[in-house]
Amino acid sequence: MIKYIFITGGVVSSLGKGVTAASLAAILESRGLRVTMLKLDPYINVDPGTMSPFQHGEVFVTEDGAETDLDLGHYERFISTKMTRLNNFTTGQIYDSVIKKERRGDYLGNTVQVIPHITNEIQEFIVRGANNSFEGNADIAIVEIGGTVGDIESLPFLEAARQMSLSLGRSNFVFMHLTLVPSVSSFSELKTKPTQHSVQKLREIGIFPDVILCRASRRISSEERAKISMFSNVPIESVISVWNVDSIYKVPSVLQEQRVDDIVCSTMLINPEPADLSIWRKLVDRIENPSCDIDIGMIGKYTDFTESYKSLIEAIAHAGIHTNSRVNIKYINSEDIEKNGTDLLKNLDGILVPGGFGNRGIEGKIMAINYARENKIPFLGICLGMQLAVVEFARNVAGLKNANSTEFDASTEFPVIALINEWKDISGQIERRSINSDKGGTLRKGAQSIFVMKNTKTHSIYGDSLYERHRHRYEVNNNYLKCLIDSGLIVSASTSSENLTEVIEIKDHPWFIGVQFHPEFTSTPRNGHPLFIDYVRAIINKKFIKSI
Ligand code: GLN
Repeated sequence: MIKYIFITGGVVSSLGKGVTAASLAAILESRGLRVTMLKLDPYINVDPGTMSPFQHGEVFVTEDGAETDLDLGHYERFISTKMTRLNNFTTGQIYDSVIKKERRGDYLGNTVQVIPHITNEIQEFIVRGANNSFEGNADIAIVEIGGTVGDIESLPFLEAARQMSLSLGRSNFVFMHLTLVPSVSSFSELKTKPTQHSVQKLREIGIFPDVILCRASRRISSEERAKISMFSNVPIESVISVWNVDSIYKVPSVLQEQRVDDIVCSTMLINPEPADLSIWRKLVDRIENPSCDIDIGMIGKYTDFTESYKSLIEAIAHAGIHTNSRVNIKYINSEDIEKNGTDLLKNLDGILVPGGFGNRGIEGKIMAINYARENKIPFLGICLGMQLAVVEFARNVAGLKNANSTEFDASTEFPVIALINEWKDISGQIERRSINSDKGGTLRKGAQSIFVMKNTKTHSIYGDSLYERHRHRYEVNNNYLKCLIDSGLIVSASTSSENLTEVIEIKDHPWFIGVQFHPEFTSTPRNGHPLFIDYVRAIINKKFIKSI
C-alpha cells in the first residue's frame, strides 16, 4: 500500500515548498524507497500552459507532453521517477471532470457539491497520480498542496487530504507544514507568531501536522523551536529548521541532518536502509570549488523574472557542475540590444537565446544571434532561439531579405518559420491547428525520438538518436529548406514522419547549435545534459585553451 506525505504551506507563498518536498523525496529515495510526487494547484486554469510566465514562472513539460507546474521540474531533478500529466492537477481540472460527469448523468440526480463530489474527485486524482509510477507499487507518494493554508481556494484540497488520511490509517500518512518564521530586521529575533497562527488554521480544519518545517533566513534556535513546539503541539524534534542556503542542492543535507527522514519513517512504521547523501554532497562540493568562471549572456524577455527560465538556469548550472566551472548568467533584455546595439554583448563568453512567445524584443534577439555567428561566439538557441537563428541565417546568409517567422510577420515575403497545419502527435494521432486554433493545447508537445545525422556536431553529442521534449507551434518551413541547406545551413536532426527540423548547426564556427526542442527539461544535477555540457565545454575551450 502506498503511504502518503502531504505537504502544506503557511504564512506566505514561495517558501520553496517544491524544493523542500523534492529534497525529502531525494533522501527517501536514497533509503531505497520507491518515491513519487504530486503537485495540486488551487487555481481554476486547466493547466499553466496559457498562464503568463510573469505570474506563474516556467511551464514544465513532461515526457508525455503535459504542461505542468514548475515544481515538477524540481521533482525530476531531485529524484529519478519521471513525472507525467497525472502528477499535477488543478482545481480547473477537478471541476472540469466533475462537470463532465454531471452532464453525463453519473450522479443520478443528486445535487453536486464541493463536499463530497469535488473532494472525492480530488482524492481519486491523488490516488490515480500516486499509482501512476512503479506500476502502482510506489512506497511513498509525496503530495504537495499548492497555495497557503487559510486561502479559500485551497480549502477543498486540504479537506480532501484530511478525509483521505482518515481512511488511510495512522501509519500510512504524514502531514508536514512548511511555514515562514520571519524576523523584522536581519539581526532581530525570529517571530514565531505567524507559524502559530498558521498551524491553528490547519487544526481548525482538522489537520494536525506531524512535522513543521520552519523556513527562516537563519538556523532557528532551540528556544524558538521549543516555543513553536509548545504552541503547535508538535514534538520539538519534529520542528525543523530550514534556513536559507546558497544552493538548492544543499537542502537534502539540511533536512537529513535534522533526521526528517527518520521522523517520517517512524511515523509510517517503516525502517528502510540508512540514507546516503554522498552524491548530493559531491555535487555541492563541485559547485563550491569550480576551477574556472565563464559568462553566458541569456538574451530574453523575462530577464527580471528568472522563475520563467527555471529549468534552463538549472541545466546551465548542471553543465557547470560537470565541467568544474562556474557559469555566470548575464540576463540581457533583447529590447536593450535593439535600443543600444550589440556592445552589450562584448564581454560574453557564450550567447544563449532561450524559448519564448510573442513579438517583443525579437529583432534584438536576431541581432544577438548575428553577433554570435559573425564573431564566432559559442551560441545555443532553444526553440524560439533556434527559429530566430534560422531567420538570421535566411536574411544574412541565404539572401532572403526580411525573412521572418509568421508568428511575428504574418505577411512576410519569406516565411522561413511557419505554422504547419497537420502533424502526428507523440501517440501517432493526427493533430490539426490553424491561426484561429485555441491557444490552450495546440502546441507540439512532449518527447519524441529523433534520428541524428552522422558526421555532425549534434551526432558527436547525442549519438544516433535523441529523445527530447517539445513545446511550440511554429516549425522551420520545409519550402525553404533546400535554399537554406544550399547556403550552408546544416540540419542535423529532423522528425522522420514530417521531416520537421529539430537541430541546426553552421559550419566554420566553434559552436553554433539551435534546437527546436527544450533540452533543459531533461537535465539533472546528477548527470547533467550532454548538449549543455558540450556547449559549456566549448566555451571553456575557446576562452582558456585557444587563447593560450
Ligand atoms: N513561439 C515559438 C513557437 O510557438 C517558440 C516557442 C518556444 O520557444 N517554446 O513555435
